[in-house]
Order: sequence, then C-alpha cells, then structure tokens
Amino acid sequence: MDSKELNSPGYGIPPEMQGAVSITTLDRIYNWGRRSSVWPMMFGLACCAIEMICTAASRYDLSRFGMEVMRPSPRQSDLMLVSGTVTKKMAPTIVRLYNQMPEPKYVIAMGACASGGGPFKEGYNVVSGVDKLIPVDVYIPGCPPTPQALLNGLIKLQEKIDKQSIKQVRWYQKGALEAIPIPLLGPDLIRQQDLPNIKKAAEEA
Ligand code: SF4
Repeated sequence: MDSKELNSPGYGIPPEMQGAVSITTLDRIYNWGRRSSVWPMMFGLACCAIEMICTAASRYDLSRFGMEVMRPSPRQSDLMLVSGTVTKKMAPTIVRLYNQMPEPKYVIAMGACASGGGPFKEGYNVVSGVDKLIPVDVYIPGCPPTPQALLNGLIKLQEKIDKQSIKQVRWYQKGALEAIPIPLLGPDLIRQQDLPNIKKAAEEA
C-alpha cells in the first residue's frame, strides 16, 4: 500500500453506523497521539528559560496542547526545548542528553542564542546555534521570544508531526539509529566528526 492509499482508506460508513463509527488512517491516529502528548525536557540554559517557564504557568497554559508534563529525565522526554545560550562548556552535555532521549524526539531552538548564537555569537565560549550539534526541527526567533512566540513554535512542531508518515519516520527504518558523537571540550570545542579533517590539516601543515 502506498502512502496515498494509506491516507485515503476509501471505506464508506453504512448509514445505520454513521454517528457511531469513525474511520481514519493509521498515520493520522498515530500522529494525533504523539502531537497531543509532547513532553518537553525540564531544561533551560539562560534567560530564554524564564519565558519558557512563563509559558508553562497558568496564564499561557501549555497543558492545552498536552505539553505541560515537563520531565526531569531525558529518558521520558519527547522534546528538547533549547532555551538559551549554548556555551561550549555545555555542548557535550546537550549532545549527551539528546542521545539519551528515546525516539521519536524533537528539538526546538528557542530564541536568537539557540538558533544562531544571538548577541554572544562572536564570544569565544559560545556555539553559534545548537544545530551545529544536533538536528533542529523548529526555530523560534526573538531575544527573548515571548510565551506567545513559543506557543506558536510548539504549534508549528505539531503541524510538522501531523505531516509525518509511519512508513518514512527514521525510527522505523532498518538499521540502528546512531548516537551523535559527543563533542570534546579542550582548549576549544572539537566535534568528533571533524577529527579526520583536523588530522589531515595537521599533517599537511
Ligand atoms: S536569545 Fe536573548 S533572551 Fe534568549 S538566551 Fe539569548 S540573550 Fe537571553
């Protein structure tokens, strides 16, 4: 069955059963369950985290989206909300936490710092965007983004989840999902993926 057929069951509901039975696709019910219970990790890096905390409080009421259950463990989290400046010192921990989250997992870069380094981009100690370390699903602009902007980003994530198909999601593909190598923090941050190029450049120098 191709994805077009999967999304169009093509079954008519007999008139006597209409109002008592619903027919949907496996993709829609699967996505509806996941998008309505995205549990963020309780995790904040800098001032943007204050806005994230506000979003979870009663005025903005994150629980309307089924996302109020902030988990203190990556093992129980679906969403890493990177709210704040990503320093090089924190980078190995961020990648380790990301690796410890089970699939399906998502990442939101909240604010200018997490998206691209923000006002500290030129700093010796700052990573210019968390997407240098881990894949990001949604970027939220602002310094800081307001709670409304964060809610909008979460809704965008829900829309992204709605478009996923069981046949294509990475966690059901053959082969083990590989963990991202944890960056090494020495005098500077070194991504393990870059080591061959660094060695080659050193040999040529
Ligand atoms: S984007 Fe602005 S508010 Fe958010 S962590 Fe950076 S400096 Fe702070």
